[in-house]
Amino acid sequence: MSYAQHLKCRECARTYELAPLAACEDCWAPLEVAYDYGRIWSDVRRDDIAARPPNMWRYRELLPLDGEPRVGHHTGFTPLVPAPRLARALGARELYLKNDAVNHPTLSFKDRVVAVALSKALEFGFETVGCSSTGNLANAVAAQAAAAGLTAFIFVPADLESEKIIATQVYGATLVKVSGNYDQVNRLCSEVAQKYPWGIVNVNLRSYYSEGSKTLGYEVAEQLGWRLPRNIVVPMAGGSLITKINKAFEELKKLGWVEPATTKFFGAQATGCSPISTAAKKGTPEIEPQKPSTIAKSLAIGNPADGFYAVKTILGSGGAGEDVTDEEIVAGIRLLAETEGIFTETAGGVTVAVTQKLIRRRFLSPDEATVLAITGNGLKTVAAVSGRLEEVAAIRPKLADFEERYVQLATAAASV
Ligand SMILES: *Cc1c(COP(=O)(O)O)cnc(C)c1O
Ligand SMILES: [Zn+2]
Repeated sequence: MSYAQHLKCRECARTYELAPLAACEDCWAPLEVAYDYGRIWSDVRRDDIAARPPNMWRYRELLPLDGEPRVGHHTGFTPLVPAPRLARALGARELYLKNDAVNHPTLSFKDRVVAVALSKALEFGFETVGCSSTGNLANAVAAQAAAAGLTAFIFVPADLESEKIIATQVYGATLVKVSGNYDQVNRLCSEVAQKYPWGIVNVNLRSYYSEGSKTLGYEVAEQLGWRLPRNIVVPMAGGSLITKINKAFEELKKLGWVEPATTKFFGAQATGCSPISTAAKKGTPEIEPQKPSTIAKSLAIGNPADGFYAVKTILGSGGAGEDVTDEEIVAGIRLLAETEGIFTETAGGVTVAVTQKLIRRRFLSPDEATVLAITGNGLKTVAAVSGRLEEVAAIRPKLADFEERYVQLATAAASV
């Protein structure tokens, strides 16, 4: 059933059969899945897709599985919601939120990439899987490995948020806490992948993993009525998601499923870890690694694997990279919650705050439709906001106590 043909090196174009390979053997560049688009074009219609169940597998011909998906049956097809109140607050005309804060099963966009990677791991015959993670990938691999009956080893930086630690261990995965930053964890994980016959999601399964990110792009286009947005703002860690949304849009154009419009890509990072947005501002795809220091831990990759391609995507589209401080991230989380009723994690705060900054500086036109990728759930990073909210003292269960404390608020609320 597969329309995937082979792996192809992004630099030297050498091809490999579809196997668990980490990088090109000649030049160490990333490998990418290549498809037979001609056959997809003749076999599949846009209306076939629209008639399928609302999950990421409705685009299965554009994903690299040989057989049926084995995990993630309810992953993807998250809501794309208009955000008029946020738009008003930012002085923009038309904003949409792609809400992966409610993606199944672990409440971040990482469930998409893991659903592909673990389905592929099962096809390759792996019994043990693993990953290095800044948090959300850990949760997604642990949960989906449990559902698939796979053994999982999850490598994380020791200073990860406690919610993300708990939401890894609860699934029975082996948690390997490493005292070091993500880049050091990732290096260790690559050594493990060379020594043990395991499927490491973001090492030897990375070319399959990253294909899962494309589904966010297909969905945005379909949910806009098979149209591409004028602008999209995407948070960046390793730089894979933004690169793959671009690939998704290009594929849809190639298949004739959308009009050939151009989308400007805006890449969002935290100032405390901004190697990609910094390079984009300088106008070069050469990434200078950084030592991360930010509350946006899910984005804290100082030496991003796909940073080079992320900058090329941004600059090639006429978009921009931007970053925001931890203060601005918290303000972004609260603004989204207060205007649209969506509680996102720190990465979503980065997206909202960067959008605000880009509109203010007129890098992003307030008159054009813009999609914001909200990629994770606020309940996973509560410490980012818990200290900033008012401490509420209890009252006795008496109307008099309520009125004494709240009468001004209550009469104000009653009069509107
Ligand atoms: C991993 C992650 C990203 C960025 O993903 P990359 O593909 O590594 O750039 C964005 N948002 C959240 C919440 C994430 O966990
Ligand atoms: Zn190569």
